[in-house]
Amino acid sequence: MRPDLLNPLFAETGSLKGVGPGLARPLDKLGLTRIRDLVYHLPERFVARRPILNLDEAGVGENIVVALTVQEHRAPAGRGPFRVLATDAAGNFVAITYFGRAAYSAKKLLPVGAKRWVAGRLDQFGQSLQIVHPDHVVEDSAELLGQMNEPVYPLSEGLTQNRLHGLVQQALGHLPDLPEWIEPGQLDRSGWPKWADAMRSAHTGSAEAARDRLAYDELLANALALMLVRAGNRNRVGQQLAGDGHLRAKLHLPFALTGAQTRSIAEIAGDMAQGAPMLRLLQGDVGAGKTAVALHAMLIAVEAGAQAAMLAPTEILARQHFATLSKMLAGTGVSIAILTGRDKGRAREATLMGLLDGSIHICVGTHAIFQETVAYRNLGLVVIDEQHRFGVGQRLMLTQKAKRTPHCLAMTATPIPRTLTLAQYGEMDVSRLDEMPPGRQPIDTRVIAIERMADVVDGIGRHIEKGGQAYWVCPMVREQETEDLAAAEARHAALAARFGDKVELVHGQLRPEAKDAAMERFVRGEALVLVATTVIEVGVDVPNATLMVIEQAERFGLAQLHQLRGRVGRGSDKSTCLLLRGEALSETGRERLALMRETQDGFRLAEEDLRLRGGGELLGTRQSGDTPFRVATFEQITRLLPVAHDDARLLMDRDGGLASPRGAAARVLLYLFERDWGVQLLRGG
Ligand code: ADP
Ligand code: MG
Repeated sequence: MRPDLLNPLFAETGSLKGVGPGLARPLDKLGLTRIRDLVYHLPERFVARRPILNLDEAGVGENIVVALTVQEHRAPAGRGPFRVLATDAAGNFVAITYFGRAAYSAKKLLPVGAKRWVAGRLDQFGQSLQIVHPDHVVEDSAELLGQMNEPVYPLSEGLTQNRLHGLVQQALGHLPDLPEWIEPGQLDRSGWPKWADAMRSAHTGSAEAARDRLAYDELLANALALMLVRAGNRNRVGQQLAGDGHLRAKLHLPFALTGAQTRSIAEIAGDMAQGAPMLRLLQGDVGAGKTAVALHAMLIAVEAGAQAAMLAPTEILARQHFATLSKMLAGTGVSIAILTGRDKGRAREATLMGLLDGSIHICVGTHAIFQETVAYRNLGLVVIDEQHRFGVGQRLMLTQKAKRTPHCLAMTATPIPRTLTLAQYGEMDVSRLDEMPPGRQPIDTRVIAIERMADVVDGIGRHIEKGGQAYWVCPMVREQETEDLAAAEARHAALAARFGDKVELVHGQLRPEAKDAAMERFVRGEALVLVATTVIEVGVDVPNATLMVIEQAERFGLAQLHQLRGRVGRGSDKSTCLLLRGEALSETGRERLALMRETQDGFRLAEEDLRLRGGGELLGTRQSGDTPFRVATFEQITRLLPVAHDDARLLMDRDGGLASPRGAAARVLLYLFERDWGVQLLRGG
């Protein structure tokens, strides 16, 4: 149970003053559903504002605070913006400009004749000066002038800096006094403030020590939780599964295993023969051949008289695995079934029976395979594909289902740097498929300016005329969801206008059935062009799709580009990946795209990605989904993770049951970062 002293932090954001239903959605989008989330929503930067008397004193692009008198309202002609003309003390004119619905509030905020303090960025518009969507408009200067270093928060549509700032301030008023979980020596050495102080400082200035402390907390929580899982796992009872090889001998794969595959299978077999349950990660780049390794592991379980289950993150991947594995298993006498949320009625009943009486040896499916109603006769191995889609907590739930803990093999194609492997999968042993099956053709990767869009579309036309299929990927980030979605839809419309109903669109906002239907049309070759956001990143295998276009490639992380590119180059034909870049490309952006052209080694790209981002000029260069962290930036991970890891180790050695006062504080930390699955294991065993 969560310690009571954390309750104020876990209260809903809706309990704050002034949060109505209108704010719920934008807050939800940012993941700010509880007070805890708000206080950990750290500013991405701070702006320094300069108070000025006279607009002549300020440069264009400068953030200023100035007293203005409103002269005139200019309603838009047609779809233009709403402008408020105002003058400073010297009579210089400036236009305060509002787009869209913001215009309504502007009239009230800035009535004609009134004097107001306006804070914002001074811009030039033609010959005149303007301030677009000022950050603040107030009657009284005191508040503004007292705060010259203002936080800028990541926003979502429907939220303003002002609103969010107000909410964060309210939330900061609810900070409880938490016991110290950091070792005193570490606190002294680094000069870090206490938790609540660090929290408040992080919102008021670019307080490096405060930010480091908060990041360290997160890293420590993660390291501790993983160690607890690992320790808990060691104490559990598994079953020794040593296959005799009779089923594996019947396999007739159309290829010889690579050295890396053979080595990984041997490592897995070694684990499964032990009494303690296996907890192993199989890390291998896209196309490295993880499925064949998983198949061998599952056959070991079946040879030893147990069952195996394989979990895929999506319906479509589950079906694909089922088809591939069924083909590979032909003639072995091993029975395999599929179970997803979509399988209903008699077929489902039959599968459930088969799992219960043991006549089904291998079950492939989505999380449906672990629902309450699904019982196995003797589940000996769980394989989790594309592990990064599932959290450690979910994984634990899965393996706790059986009386005896099944062995667990998690697989991931996300090539993460070694430092992050520790952070993300520290509780597991790792096998790496660091060798590609022979005969793969390198993917011809090119960087092309967006201006050449028409040529690219012509190229697609020629490609599909020759019977090929193509992916067209559009960026999608949470903060910019609406615009991104609109752009993807527009691209789909444009391509459909040219190529007709051979073009499909998939994105994360579609209902799962609609998404699967579109994907399936592409898999079956009925659709030839698949316009998609990053939802196709994982696992889909269409060997005939040998062309990929990635629009605004500079907006993707390197690791993500690599994952995407891995969707092509799967057949024997030569594949091409076109990275369309926008006009304004930063130095780093240029470097990153050049790297994509240069190498196809996922691990190298991951290391470089970390290096390029680690230099981070911004305070908060996070990209959601890339790491399990919300607070720690790449730079902080690189610098602080080893320290946090050592400290966690030390604490575990001294007080593995977290019973001392510092241990109790560490439990609070685990709950604070919602890594309490570690604590629950502790209590359970
Ligand atoms: P991933 O690691 O991305 O899951 P897959 O298991 O889907 O990769 O394998 C990719 C392709 O490589 C499949 O078509 C598979 O049949 C093939 N493959 C796997 N192992 C080998 C091998 N040792 N030699 C040749 N082809 C292989
Ligand atoms: Mg795979």
